[in-house]
Amino acid sequence: NPAPEQHEFSAEVGRLLDLVVHALYSDREIFLRELVANAADATDRRRFEALTDAGRALPDGAKIRIDPDKPARQLTISDDGAGMTRDEMVKNLGTIARSGTRAFGQAINAGGAADADKPDERPSLIGQFGVGFYAAFMVADRVEVTSRRAGEADAWCWSSSGQGNFTIAPATREAPGTDIVLHIKSDADEFLEPYRLESIVRKWADHITWPITIQRDGNEVAANEGTALWRKPKSEITEEALTEFYQHLGHSFDKPWATLHWRAEGTLEFAAMLFIPSMRPFEPVESVRESRVRLHVRRMFITDEAELLPPFLRFVQGVVDTEDLPLNVSREMLQSTPVLARIRKAVTNRVISELRTRAKDAESYAGFWSNFGPVLKEGLWEDFEHRAELAGLARFHSTHEPKALTSLADYVSRMKPEQDAIYYLVGDNEDALAGSPQLEGFRARGIEVLLLSDPVDAFWPDRLDKFEEKSLRSVTQGLADLSRHAIENAPEADATDVTALVAALKEALGEDVSDVRSTDRLVSSAVVLSASQSGPDLQLQRMMRRSGQ
Ligand code: ADP
Ligand code: MG
Repeated sequence: NPAPEQHEFSAEVGRLLDLVVHALYSDREIFLRELVANAADATDRRRFEALTDAGRALPDGAKIRIDPDKPARQLTISDDGAGMTRDEMVKNLGTIARSGTRAFGQAINAGGAADADKPDERPSLIGQFGVGFYAAFMVADRVEVTSRRAGEADAWCWSSSGQGNFTIAPATREAPGTDIVLHIKSDADEFLEPYRLESIVRKWADHITWPITIQRDGNEVAANEGTALWRKPKSEITEEALTEFYQHLGHSFDKPWATLHWRAEGTLEFAAMLFIPSMRPFEPVESVRESRVRLHVRRMFITDEAELLPPFLRFVQGVVDTEDLPLNVSREMLQSTPVLARIRKAVTNRVISELRTRAKDAESYAGFWSNFGPVLKEGLWEDFEHRAELAGLARFHSTHEPKALTSLADYVSRMKPEQDAIYYLVGDNEDALAGSPQLEGFRARGIEVLLLSDPVDAFWPDRLDKFEEKSLRSVTQGLADLSRHAIENAPEADATDVTALVAALKEALGEDVSDVRSTDRLVSSAVVLSASQSGPDLQLQRMMRRSGQ
């Protein structure tokens, strides 16, 4: 054999390798995600090439093999994919060919001084988006790639310790495909443990559709599910499989209350499988505000931080898998690409329309509402775009029928002919609300009042302002004027007495109140606190005081 040829890495690769070698321990496991992804890509490529060149056809049972060899401290990842020629190796493994990695490198370089202060943040970028093949050097002090291009007879071996240069030499390989041999670093023993490798595959590559196997105690064990469930036609998916997948996603034990599975085709291509839990999760939905729906690109998991749904739908779990982004999409790209914005919109609308359908089954919807209604109501406050739709989906307790839920539309249908507003009372808990003297005048006149006891209820009615042309009005505000509504058989009040009492109270309370007035709102109680015409409602005032404002 001739001596191996020496090649220099491009300057960009050199910089990237510096970074990779100093990656945080917690990020290192993603090297396997990258290498398995490459193996799957190469296998896909070969299948595609075989469409026009039968000489490159995949062997039966094509798969990706992961083989740890503890005594030799070697980890080998093999595939039956398209392989690489000598020139392809020099180009693909010696320079940064792909745009994703380049964007990553540029972001790091552009970060410059800022990054120097926070060196720890650079590696976690690696963890999120990957640096492709070079991730191998996080766990290996030498990497050998032996590859034979499908349709060719000769094989080549690329070898490097990740420091400035690599060598290329002729090699032999019985069949086309690629073996990546990692000489595992002395502090990376864990990556020689079959169980550890298995858990990494499950976490990051479970949905690669080629079989992935791991050598364990002399046996070849299947390591991935191998099916992207959401990519299967509905008719092939059993309910058990759905439930299992849902439980795996959210670490939950219940069955989903709703399952949405659809494919968007045309200008936007994605498959989505989303679930609404039937139980509140153990971790309070208040603790994390961002949606954790997983973004996949061509089946590969990319991130669960793409915020594919607005915060008011953060209880929805699942996967969105698109064809419209590159596999190595960078953080910058995720933030700026119009593709994600369009996917977000489509997915959000789909969930809202599902809720609208499911709301027709009042009993089942009440269960959903008691779990996630308070979250959904946050959208009434903060989401201008969906406010009107959410108002239609919201359900409330009211004085109409204790314990039952009502929609705003049903409330409106029960309004008195002369009634011009939707009345509500906000407080800390429902029982206290139901007994509040604020309601006396309304009860006496048969006017329904919504009883609102979630924290967000202090805020959204102002924002929503109107529903079906009817204003929303707090019963504690001065504007809640009941004079136009008569009470049947009401006793005559003595107007002179009241005027004298009001004057006396004003004098006694002085600066503590802005006004004292007679009211139609009381029937059996003598006095009630009221908020001013235009200012915040009483509950909001209480909350502001509590938070020291
Ligand atoms: P990316 O996968 O985004 O292209 P990588 O750094 O992961 O970037 O890989 C660089 C290139 O090396 C790939 O595009 C591919 O051409 C080649 N390559 C890597 N691994 C394999 C493999 N197992 N089989 C064939 N080609 C490979
Ligand atoms: Mg890759």
